[in-house]
Amino acid sequence: MRLCNPRLNQVEAALLDEVSADALMSYTEQVAAKVRLSGSDEELESFRYVQRQLEDWGLSTQLLFHDGYVSWPGAATLQIEGLGDIACITHAMAVSTPGTSGGLVYAGRGRPADYEALTVQGQIVVIEGLAAPAPVKEAIRHGAVALIFINDDHFHEMITSPVWGSPTPDQLGQLPTTPIISIRRPDGERLKQHLLLHGTAAPSARITAEVDTRWRKLPLLEAWIPGHEGEPYVLFSGHIDSWHLGAMDNGSANATMMEVARILSRHGSDLQRGLRLCFWSGHSHGRYAGSAWYADSFWHDLRERCVAHVNIDSVGGMGATVLTEAFAMAETADLGKAVIPNFAGSRPSRSGDQSFLALGIPSLLMTLSEQELEPGVVGPAAITGSKAGGSGWWWHTVDDTVDKLDPAFLARDCQIYLAVVFRLCAERVLPFHYGAAIHEYRSLLEQYAARAGDLFDLAPALEAAQTLKAAYEPFGSEVERLREEDHHGRPCDPDQVKRANERLMALGRRLIPGNYTTQGPFAQDPALPIAPMPLLAPIGDLVAAGPESDVAKHMLVGLRRARNRIVQDLMDATRDLI
Ligand SMILES: [Zn+2]
Repeated sequence: MRLCNPRLNQVEAALLDEVSADALMSYTEQVAAKVRLSGSDEELESFRYVQRQLEDWGLSTQLLFHDGYVSWPGAATLQIEGLGDIACITHAMAVSTPGTSGGLVYAGRGRPADYEALTVQGQIVVIEGLAAPAPVKEAIRHGAVALIFINDDHFHEMITSPVWGSPTPDQLGQLPTTPIISIRRPDGERLKQHLLLHGTAAPSARITAEVDTRWRKLPLLEAWIPGHEGEPYVLFSGHIDSWHLGAMDNGSANATMMEVARILSRHGSDLQRGLRLCFWSGHSHGRYAGSAWYADSFWHDLRERCVAHVNIDSVGGMGATVLTEAFAMAETADLGKAVIPNFAGSRPSRSGDQSFLALGIPSLLMTLSEQELEPGVVGPAAITGSKAGGSGWWWHTVDDTVDKLDPAFLARDCQIYLAVVFRLCAERVLPFHYGAAIHEYRSLLEQYAARAGDLFDLAPALEAAQTLKAAYEPFGSEVERLREEDHHGRPCDPDQVKRANERLMALGRRLIPGNYTTQGPFAQDPALPIAPMPLLAPIGDLVAAGPESDVAKHMLVGLRRARNRIVQDLMDATRDLI
């Protein structure tokens, strides 16, 4: 049974036939037998189950423990004057309160423009949607004392902090400073009607909430195939911690990682480089605390040796027919297209354990299979930022149970991951296309230059990008030649292949941080929406501010530094190719 439609060779086709839907469902049931709060005993049981299975299949494993700052939501109550008690939940990284009161103010979707005609200082703000970091930050910035989110018909668990990984001392001030709760849509509709009836004399509300936020010991499971010390490897990662039973998010993904590991462990001789699997804790309750700790703790090893990061989250859902929008970079999109029919890909955002962008490691996939878009649905699509309908209504709810999985779709998704991971591990020449990445880089610079007009000169960056393009062209042709020889089974010069792969890796290290981060290789940008080539994003505000304003002059200080960094990255990338 072959469910995906990749352009595969015989070895790959045979591998995919080894995927077992029954085995995938069985692993999922084991992993998702209990609620897996980050750092809990129940979560550790699932880690140990996965470790035992991987060792039974002959993989080398290591269960690490590290400190992580995580947050478990507890009980919450909401009383509204004139409406009485309303069922609610509170959220990770929100503030506990024995009782916070205030007048209610409705702020639509909670975007900056929604506050233009509102005064929310000292009030409780009511917002449509999921309790995501961006609307939380905006409401608190406007002086709200508490937040109420109106979800859809189900309570969706969320983490409300934008801080990526466990916070540094400087970042503690970026954690939410108010209680935050969510209510369901029918109650939200009643609340909105109530507010309309009261007009300007807003009714008050009282919120209580318990959130247990502290440092905990978190497990982190590593496993290797074939495990050669000191050689390049592909990182394949997913979180084990969950909201509620988390059968889809992320039991089915853990099962997929296990099945890929089981199959590839029998084909180690076909691999050109190692596969490292990492199972994280701290994703749901610590905003990627596990993967961020791993990036910090093994920074040099990752920088020197990790050729690609493949992440997996929430696969095999019933009705998940949209396969076209998973994360892909310009340099990795062709690999996605080779394996996934009609794949378009979405630019990686600050979500889903993308803790390795700052290191310059190419990334592919995350949430792979999604629902069709249902107009008007407030749900997971709002979080993933994708054009599809997200992960299903049960995502982050008590209803994320094994009956929400479709075994055939789970096997299909596993085959896609198996094909992608296999190609990354088995292709002699790394399957990245930096011609596309350089083209994207230049296009972004051209767009920013057009927007900046006379206000800011990006000519040095455009010239440096042109120089890189010219330097890349002969190298790109050489890579194509080596790839062709390999695909036709002709022997390649191992030294030429090694040199080409080193250069491909070096291009990622130079170009990815500037394209995806503001803070560079040693830090983590917050889990908030981020523009392409984000250091130049202030150009939009510069134009709005006008050339002679003080605020424009402040912006130009930062933009000059950004331009220096981008030019330097491009010059270094060019030098690596010569
Ligand atoms: Zn997840």
